[in-house]
Amino acid sequence: MRILTVVGARPQFIKAAVVSRAISVRSVIEEQILHTGQHFDIDMSARFFEELEIPEPAFNLGIGGGSHGQNTGRMIEGIERVLLDQRPDWLLVYGDTDSTLAGALAAVKLHIPVAHVEAGLRSFNRRMPEEINRVLTDHAATRLFAPTAAAVTNPRNEGIESDAVEQVGDVMYDAALFYGKKAERVSSILRDLNLNPKSYVLATLHRAENTDDPARLEAILDGFRASGQRIILPLHPRTHSRLTRFGLVLPENVQGIPPVGYLDMVQLERNAILIATDSGGVQKEAFFHQVPCVTLRDETEWVELVEAGWNRLAPALSGLIPEAMETRLGSSGLNVSHYGQGDAARLIAGSLTIPRGS
Ligand code: UDP
Repeated sequence: MRILTVVGARPQFIKAAVVSRAISVRSVIEEQILHTGQHFDIDMSARFFEELEIPEPAFNLGIGGGSHGQNTGRMIEGIERVLLDQRPDWLLVYGDTDSTLAGALAAVKLHIPVAHVEAGLRSFNRRMPEEINRVLTDHAATRLFAPTAAAVTNPRNEGIESDAVEQVGDVMYDAALFYGKKAERVSSILRDLNLNPKSYVLATLHRAENTDDPARLEAILDGFRASGQRIILPLHPRTHSRLTRFGLVLPENVQGIPPVGYLDMVQLERNAILIATDSGGVQKEAFFHQVPCVTLRDETEWVELVEAGWNRLAPALSGLIPEAMETRLGSSGLNVSHYGQGDAARLIAGSLTIPRGS
């Protein structure tokens, strides 16, 4: 059984780390990794491969920095070439980026079955590039590995065959458990930044809907300023470039730092008093580490955390950010368990060894 895994962006490296580890213990599966190059600098890519001990990519397309259309088109071409040469039994893709969609389209046209990890999520906002990528990938996939109950229902409502969808849990929960203890041991980020536990808010910001619209970006920074909290903000390269382009400066209570590695991020998350984010992954990690969260978006794919009281939505232009941050401080939610048993990667690896159609 041979699998070609396509990754390209930071959250995919973290998800692939746990699944590749689970695959590597099954001698019947041979995995090769293809890196599209979507995220290419050391802070966003190489560091994750090293820190999370992800196998070196066998192929690197070096495609990044262009528009959605340019990137996706070039990726499809590059992935197709590798697929024609390698003829794997499965193509494995993660999440909702241009790399995910390009992998799915290249494979499905060659009749190579596609397995989609983190399938079935929906924001129901078709203006988000991520929503288009995940909907189309799910419809091209043979096997959909859903992290939550909602992610099982959504594809069924779109007419995708029930048999194709398996609820396995969330591989990011596996990652939080697996790397959480290591982070405690090896990360020196709190010392480096001179931070006491539970004395700061951790924020991240990178969704195009927030960063590419100067009014929304400025409104979020104003909300941060008005909160009066000490805020640590690891800056995604896109956010950094938009701040410069729009001539916006961070408020005094917000400390921008370069993007951090996953282990440092886990340490920052666990010790934050609150997390404010527009990231999908970080919303869940807040819950995994039992930290309250404010999500700086109009909607979320992880609806169960809003329902359980762990997460509150505060859209950029709502004027609600300072109040949401204030009221979430020190709060918690219901004791729920929506993301599996921490064995999602093992279940995925096991499922991939079962031949298609059986
Ligand atoms: N992350 C990281 N360093 C950072 C910011 C985020 O390691 O400086 C991790 C974070 O812990 C999570 C993942 O990156 O596991 C989330 O990625 P991102 O927010 O870029 O994408 P999304 O989850 O929104 O697709």
